Amino acid sequence: MARLVAGNERYVSGFSAHPNNDLARRSKVAAGQTPFATILTCADSRVPPELLFDQGLGDLFVCRVAGNVVDDALLASLEYSVIHLGSTLIMVLGHERCGAVKATIDALAGKGDPDDAGTKIGALAALIAPAVRAAPADAPDKLDAVVSINASHAAAEIFVNSPPLRARVLAGKLKIVAARYDLDDGKVTPAKS
Ligand SMILES: [Zn+2]
Repeated sequence: MARLVAGNERYVSGFSAHPNNDLARRSKVAAGQTPFATILTCADSRVPPELLFDQGLGDLFVCRVAGNVVDDALLASLEYSVIHLGSTLIMVLGHERCGAVKATIDALAGKGDPDDAGTKIGALAALIAPAVRAAPADAPDKLDAVVSINASHAAAEIFVNSPPLRARVLAGKLKIVAARYDLDDGKVTPAKS
């Protein structure tokens, strides 16, 4: 976690070090990977974990899907990173003004986009919908509230739905955290929920 925080601070300040991305690093990790952290985040083009945490090749095991939701394929990927690659931290990272979260809020309010007809977007929205329903009705910024709740829900689902990962958390060998990325200033902060 300290490495992620330090890297994000470098990125926020505009002084990224761009570590571990030279030829020597590429050769080294070609032989095998031991990422120190796992990030589940949105597919949004503005939220690339290696850049916003200022990390390089082989540092982060990254799973990305719109709305940073957890289905079986995602959970399996997260499990693999911990059990087989030795990652000791899973961070679920939601982000400000997430389009997938906004689309879900709109759809539940009966204002779905007609262009989504016939797509699988509804199936994705169904995974985000519980976070929308859990948001307080009087939240000053509903979208932002749901972003944080959605990330916290995903973190909780990982803990609940994966017995091996849960055992590692309870043994103090793994941390699962939820966080929010600010598109404007680049900061990653713990998700409020
Ligand atoms: Zn998003």
